[in-house]
Amino acid sequence: MSYTEEIYARVIEQNPGEPEFHQAVKEVLDSLKLVIDANEEEYRKLGILERLVEPERIISFRVPWVDDQGKVQINKGYRVQFNSAIGPYKGGLRFHPSVNQSILKFLGFEQVFKNSLTGLPIGGGKGGSNFDPKGKSDREVMAFCQSFMTELQKYIGADQDVPAGDIGVGGREIGYLYGQYKRLTGQYEGVLTGKGLTWGGSLVRTQATGYGLVYILDEMLKAAGKSMEGQTIVVSGSGNVAIYAVEKAQELGAKVVAMSDSNGYVYDPEGIKLDIVKDIKEVKRGRIKEYAEQVSSAVYTEGKGIWTVKCDIALPCATQNELNLDDAKALVANGCFAIAEGANMPTTREATDYVQAQGLLFMPGKASNAGGVATSALEMCQNSARLSWTFEEVDEKLKNIMKDIYAKVADAAERYDVPGNFVVGANIAGFEKVVDAMKAQGLV
Ligand code: NDP
Repeated sequence: MSYTEEIYARVIEQNPGEPEFHQAVKEVLDSLKLVIDANEEEYRKLGILERLVEPERIISFRVPWVDDQGKVQINKGYRVQFNSAIGPYKGGLRFHPSVNQSILKFLGFEQVFKNSLTGLPIGGGKGGSNFDPKGKSDREVMAFCQSFMTELQKYIGADQDVPAGDIGVGGREIGYLYGQYKRLTGQYEGVLTGKGLTWGGSLVRTQATGYGLVYILDEMLKAAGKSMEGQTIVVSGSGNVAIYAVEKAQELGAKVVAMSDSNGYVYDPEGIKLDIVKDIKEVKRGRIKEYAEQVSSAVYTEGKGIWTVKCDIALPCATQNELNLDDAKALVANGCFAIAEGANMPTTREATDYVQAQGLLFMPGKASNAGGVATSALEMCQNSARLSWTFEEVDEKLKNIMKDIYAKVADAAERYDVPGNFVVGANIAGFEKVVDAMKAQGLV
């Protein structure tokens, strides 16, 4: 058995019932095979892979809060501090009923490589709760966030672990979490990112993941002799990442014809009117089907199926494993030539293998959605320096970071003789820096 196969078998055996974590580890290990084989003796001796797949720490805790009926509710809370070789743990908090340890370990593991790719000094972590903010009153969300932070604050700090938002955690939740952190610790520090602009947030952070996704997509297209102009795009989801991916894609001359949420999708052949989506999702916290009630050219379809809409480029921006092999086949049959992942691991392994074999351009999430965490790191810089940069300054830095990520990923793929395989390129480029730091810091 090769070293990577051995480690994968060990992960399965030692982490039972964690399919998402297994899936993420498998993808990375398969991609790293070329590097590992070249250094097998040294890495085995140092236990590099054993250490890489084992989180430094997992904190799990009870989150008690009282709902509007006066009833006590209990949720599970977690923080996975995966790897701090290159900087303090950094990664979002997810509040969604599906959250469990497997999902957070997969996300934390991916985050290690993603953060490394940004070129900034941030380690990898992830956290969250099975709490569902949907349908809760503001008071209930605040009560939950205060209780969650009362426990979490023991383990985080501006130079220790700096959480941010993710699914279900936006500006409102970050605000309540930050307020409670400040109250308990007496510290006004950059312990969370995604903060409001009047209290330490960075311009462009809200837009960063979606904009960054389109910046790297643009680089990938240019390298293939194409451009964004006139492309037809389908974007799944209608949350933070999706909305700002659509905004930037439209700005660069593309036409976005479909968006979705967990209930269904809207198809608007005239092009999505983003101000209406923003009003439904950001202001009213409503459902995407309301778009079709307001826009006569749009049709709403209940359920999955967004990937049957004909497009040139697909941007999955909702959640993990939302694009499977059948979806990939439908995209290819309809002439789609590029996929860039806005969400984390939205494309299943079978679907990824299929589209790569069909010659599609494919950029994996750990490279293409890294703009969010990169801008979070820029927020940390501004907080430490007690400064605020302008929108243009931050946007320019984000653009350069995404260009640089594309260059690193493409270069690693070339160096290992798999040109154009950005999955392998992203994993290798992310891995090299982390392993170098782990080796330098000894057995910790
Ligand atoms: P939001 O909560 O703002 O939006 C998520 C969107 O995806 C919503 O439209 C939601 O629909 C939909 N969705 C969520 N779960 C499911 C599901 N199980 N099935 C179908 N649709 C679903 O989250 P974000 O936009 O912040 O995050 C989206 C993805 O991007 C996640 O994978 C996240 O990890 C990743 N990401 C986010 C970053 C950020 O900066 N925000 C940074 C890097 C990655 P509904 O409202 O109906 O639930």
